[in-house]
Amino acid sequence: MQKISAFRDFLAQPRKVVVLMHHKPDADALGSSLGLAGYLEKKGHSVQVIAPSDYPDFLHWMKGNEKVLIFQKERCEKPKKLISEADMIFCLDFSSLHRINELGEMVRNAAGKKVLIDHHLEPEPFADFEKWDVAAASTAELVFELIEELGDKLLIDAGLADCLYAGVMTDTGSFRHSNTTPNVFRVAGELVARGADPHGVSRMIYDSSSIERLRLLGYVLKEKLQILPEYRTAYMVLSTEELRKFSSQTGDTEGLVNYGLSVKGIRLSVLITDRKENIKLSFRSLGSFSVNDLARKHFEGGGHRNAAGGQTSLTLEETLKKFLGLLPGYKSALQQEDF
Ligand code: 5GP
Ligand code: MN
Repeated sequence: MQKISAFRDFLAQPRKVVVLMHHKPDADALGSSLGLAGYLEKKGHSVQVIAPSDYPDFLHWMKGNEKVLIFQKERCEKPKKLISEADMIFCLDFSSLHRINELGEMVRNAAGKKVLIDHHLEPEPFADFEKWDVAAASTAELVFELIEELGDKLLIDAGLADCLYAGVMTDTGSFRHSNTTPNVFRVAGELVARGADPHGVSRMIYDSSSIERLRLLGYVLKEKLQILPEYRTAYMVLSTEELRKFSSQTGDTEGLVNYGLSVKGIRLSVLITDRKENIKLSFRSLGSFSVNDLARKHFEGGGHRNAAGGQTSLTLEETLKKFLGLLPGYKSALQQEDF
């Protein structure tokens, strides 16, 4: 980490700390935040974790979850005060302030030191300290390394280890994606040695679906998954009516996009969902085809080379038309065999 000694000195006395993660946090965003928060509390700091939005029920088991403040527009005084009074603000698993909605400007204007811990591409330069590494598979991995560099690995107890392990496990697709490096296994091993329970964490995250969620998966695979062999592309489009029909909750569509890539020969998959406030796109790819570039250029988004997200304020139909209209321009890139 840049200026690690200065950072360590800053935390040598009890501080008021805020930990923030991105909108609709996933297991890595929440797990790394709660892992870091639990550690900082053990070091004597007063810590408040703030989420910009709600998140799936299958993450509620995490240690410290009950103390997370979920931002609501109509009750923004408390988070505003916490952010403006914080000595240090940690920003985890996101690299630009617009990803935390209204909280972004509060952070930008805050006087406290800002620390970015993240692995997304092309970060916005807003932080005083950065632990930013695109080669890291997860933010949880970076939090573990930070605690290790600060000489405090033994402060990681089983509860904190589970939070961090959840981030490492999910952002590598359970140790299957191309980001699964030797360091991922090293960190996962260290976390298990500190008490993380791989079977328990995996059960809580992957095996706690409602029956409606499983039915939605069945419906999407049978009725909605479209394949365009000439572009080696899979796409799925879900309307608000379809989501309502399956009583869809936050997190229920997570993972659906990956099924597109499980079809032989496919190297680009997209899930387009109507979220009422906007249209959300979720991209996955294989090899050198960069969905970060695609999302950044055309869909106000970004992420990683092989996993990215974006949005539009068009209708669902217009969004699909826009996406399909882009494919001819990417035809030769999509036909490359480099994965
Ligand atoms: P997902 O498709 O699971 O929502 O997101 C895939 C990856 O892209 C995650 O790492 C997520 O943080 C990132 N991502 C999703 N939406 C956006 C976005 O609008 N902007 C940026 N920069 N990253 C995003
Ligand atoms: Mn992440």
